[in-house]
Amino acid sequence: MTLAHTNGQGEGGDLLDRLWIYTNYDCNLSCSYCVAESFVGAERNGLALPQVCRLIDEAVALGMRELFLTGGEPFILHDIFAMLHYGLERMHVTVLSNGILLKGKRLGQLEALPHRERLTVQISLDGSNAATHDVYRGAGSWQKAIDAIVRLKAAGFHVRLGTTQTPENSQDLAAMCRLHRALGIPDEDHIIRPLVRRGFSAKGMAISLPALEPEVTVNRDGVYWHPVATDPDLMISPRLFPLREAVEQINEIRESLLMVTGGASSRFR
Ligand code: SF4
Repeated sequence: MTLAHTNGQGEGGDLLDRLWIYTNYDCNLSCSYCVAESFVGAERNGLALPQVCRLIDEAVALGMRELFLTGGEPFILHDIFAMLHYGLERMHVTVLSNGILLKGKRLGQLEALPHRERLTVQISLDGSNAATHDVYRGAGSWQKAIDAIVRLKAAGFHVRLGTTQTPENSQDLAAMCRLHRALGIPDEDHIIRPLVRRGFSAKGMAISLPALEPEVTVNRDGVYWHPVATDPDLMISPRLFPLREAVEQINEIRESLLMVTGGASSRFR
């Protein structure tokens, strides 16, 4: 396992190499702890394909190399494959999903994308068994996630697992690691982050801007400090374009914070 919540001075490169895009907020699950406040039937509040393409172009011009697409459930969107296609021709791309829709025609569309070697599919999995996963995500969702992981691995995709650590699964993490290894997913592709008290979650870690290493994050309404939430207190700018303006603001704030904290902030993925 890899703890995504680690000291900012540790692994990895410059997190401003990354662009996160919340493509939409509607979902095919209604998880009780969802920080994005997504649920079945939620307003889409999505970005249009031309906006996503422009964001990717501007990110590349700024030297960014990694794109993360998240939601909501991105694979609800008809345009998600065009977004992935555009991104993969220019960047390394990770798409976050609960995996349920990745079968049949959609799996075929995913397989047809160019530069699959640059694509990571990150699936949410919270336990080694249905009990620890389904308590937050709904009955039957663990088995559907496992089935998706098996399908994606069989199709040759790079699969990463994202686990939210909760009081219910804290004792299950070792068993979960045995499970993901058995599924052919190595430790470095299993990331764990703590439950945070945001969105629909009334419990978990309280987070605020100074405690987070910035990763440029965009939704329909603006640019944010970090992908953990798109709440007003994390908004940097209501203007998406030019992206450079918000990135420069993030850099200025980060440099000011570094002088105060010495970089002792936390990282989430
Ligand atoms: S946690 Fe993920 S799968 Fe669950 S409702 Fe939120 S966006 Fe959907």
